[in-house]
Amino acid sequence: MNKKTVRILVIEDDPNYFVLLNEWLVQCREPSFEVVRAKLLQSGIDRLKAGDIDLILLDLTLPDSSGFNTISSVRKAAPQVPVIILTGVDDSALASKAIAGGAQDYLVKGSFDRELLNRSILYALNRFESQAELQKYYAENQQSQRSLADKEERFRSLVSNIPGAVYRYSINSSGVWEIEYISSAVGDIAGVSDKILTGQGIQKYFDMILPQDREMVRDTFNKTIQSASAFSIDYRIHYRSGDFRWIHDQGRGVLGAEGKVTHVDGVMFDVTERTREKEQFHQLVYYDSLTSLPNRELFMDRLDQAVKEARRKKDIGAMLILDLDHFKRINDTLGHSVGDQLIKAVAVRLQKTMYESDTISRIGGGSFMFLLPRIAKSEHVENVANKLLMAFKSPFRTQEHELFTSCSIGIALFPQDGEDAQSLMKNADAAMHLAKDRGKDRYQLYSSSIANNSFERLVLENSLRRALEKDEFRLYYQPQLDLRTGKVSGVESLIRWQHPDLGSIPPLEFIPIAEETGLIHPIGEWVLRTACEQKRIWQKQGFRSLSVSVNLSAKQFHYVNMVDMVMSVLQQTQIDPKSLDLEITESTIMEHLEETTETLRRLKEMGCHITIDDFGTGYSSLTYLKTFPIDMLKIDRSFVKDIVTNPDDRAITQAIISMAHSLKLEVVAEGVEEEPQLEILKSQGCDILQGYLFSKPLPAADVTKILEETAERVPTDQFHSKD
Ligand code: C2E
Ligand code: CA
Ligand code: CA
Repeated sequence: MNKKTVRILVIEDDPNYFVLLNEWLVQCREPSFEVVRAKLLQSGIDRLKAGDIDLILLDLTLPDSSGFNTISSVRKAAPQVPVIILTGVDDSALASKAIAGGAQDYLVKGSFDRELLNRSILYALNRFESQAELQKYYAENQQSQRSLADKEERFRSLVSNIPGAVYRYSINSSGVWEIEYISSAVGDIAGVSDKILTGQGIQKYFDMILPQDREMVRDTFNKTIQSASAFSIDYRIHYRSGDFRWIHDQGRGVLGAEGKVTHVDGVMFDVTERTREKEQFHQLVYYDSLTSLPNRELFMDRLDQAVKEARRKKDIGAMLILDLDHFKRINDTLGHSVGDQLIKAVAVRLQKTMYESDTISRIGGGSFMFLLPRIAKSEHVENVANKLLMAFKSPFRTQEHELFTSCSIGIALFPQDGEDAQSLMKNADAAMHLAKDRGKDRYQLYSSSIANNSFERLVLENSLRRALEKDEFRLYYQPQLDLRTGKVSGVESLIRWQHPDLGSIPPLEFIPIAEETGLIHPIGEWVLRTACEQKRIWQKQGFRSLSVSVNLSAKQFHYVNMVDMVMSVLQQTQIDPKSLDLEITESTIMEHLEETTETLRRLKEMGCHITIDDFGTGYSSLTYLKTFPIDMLKIDRSFVKDIVTNPDDRAITQAIISMAHSLKLEVVAEGVEEEPQLEILKSQGCDILQGYLFSKPLPAADVTKILEETAERVPTDQFHSKD
């Protein structure tokens, strides 16, 4: 191909896309391109009549034509001009049909860049030239009366100029293939001399093909001799150093006198570089760089197809979302590089656990998705989920650590749990979160989570009724650090339910049920009594000034007998009412204002300390705050969470602290997890701090150890009271 300027006709109706192509094309040098545009198939065909077009870039879908009609019309109008197809869908069947239909190449819109376009054009021009010359040779050969030697000479010089290996395979009457001729270019392409191949059975050539591709090539060749058809395929062959090369092989069966295919003639090119570029591009767009697994985009694509297929064939499929439990904690404590190593190790193990036909994808963080396109029975997906959970029972090795982690899995079945990929993903995600809420390290089916919700609730309700009798509740205590003294000044009691079958159930899951069923009253009384009894023990150990906070839910607080109940527990346990802190949420206080004021007044009269919990979320008015007999505000965790990064949250905590201090109220901040949060709160004048940074909620015995180290202790003999 030695022209300096190549005139390209772009038949493309989309103006924006044309502008992009044009921009890319005019940037090319050697050869330089001149661009001519047509918006319709008809105007393109008219333009071709001038006979000065060197190559056509053809959009398959045009306002006046679409699909193969477009190619065949263009082919008919200009058989002498190579064509590159532009298509919107990446479909290999479509691609080979387009090539068989006479196009030289095809490009998927959005999946190629200037470089690839340029290369494709050069290949197309080259390939077209060699094909055209071959055809010319055949035509001339038939008529030519020249001597055999003359012909051979011409043939040799022709094929040695072609940048591909030209071959002829012959098939004898018993169907045995032989490599009758192959040009010397095969040496450059495959690293094997044409001398070695010539005269050998076709098996010699098959042996050069990578085993994964061999069957496909064999099938194609067989079809070619059965139907005397043309073929155009890409496959890989071994190259000297154990490496492989991509080959584009284009040929056709030639009929002999008896109407049977006696030869296969063709050309093969080395397309390794171009294929690798395409693959790299594909890898970048559709695969996760850390694990090399398909990314969300590719996954959703495959899921969409699987859903359609399942509906058509009346099959069941499943998608799973798997999320590592506490992945953030690993990242935060051991660093991102360890987090990344863990993800990689998990990815490897997941691949080993699943079948190859299942798509595994990483969607970011510690989250993976699985697509099981066909399952025989919906129960089978539970076996898969169990297998996945089991795969986490042995540790993952990273460079320096052996890490144990678990995961939570959400499952959605299709088509029953969602019409499309998006809704399936949403539902599987909801199921996964439910699995997390239920204690992690488990799976959850979306369908059952919806359908069985009431059933599960019934189960919970029933076991909640018996939990007190069976002694399944525990009370944990979370120490609070007084920033002014650096000592532990109080503990918040938090209930824990250890269910014999369901494991530990978080309070946010059962407190609402307890409230609705009225069980909150006996449970609340148990909490208060247990907390007060524990306080009495600590009191005896010398931790006199330690306060113990008890949460009161809305139902409890507004219960008519609440104040009496508190009074009787205080009497029975003989603790100093001042050291009992009752936590009531801001929204609870703002309900039934009059009653509330009265209840608070009576509690205060008994000497209890009162804290407004979750402060900042309930829109309480300042006027009321002034009139309520309260002692302390507890800044809600949601403000503390982003205090370091969000200036608005910082302004809110500062405002709450200043306002509280001006009303002579103390301020405690909860949910403090990191040193920088503490620094800010301290600088804003916050009095007390509570959160994982200092300590998690712990059983009483563990808290005692902390108290011994960090709490104010007054020896019992130094003070004289009733105990
Ligand atoms: P709450 O009163 O706001 O309790 C604080 C919650 O934050 C507790 O969750 C505690 O474990 C958690 N927490 C403490 N420090 C941190 C931290 O640094 N980071 C984060 N992310 N969380 C932290 P828990 O124990 O699951 O309790 C949840 C809620 O259940 C409580 O929220 C409270 O509303 C209710 N609850 C717990 N125990 C009782 C109880 O005995 N009676 C009543 N009525 N409600 C209770
Ligand atoms: Ca609380
Ligand atoms: Ca709270």
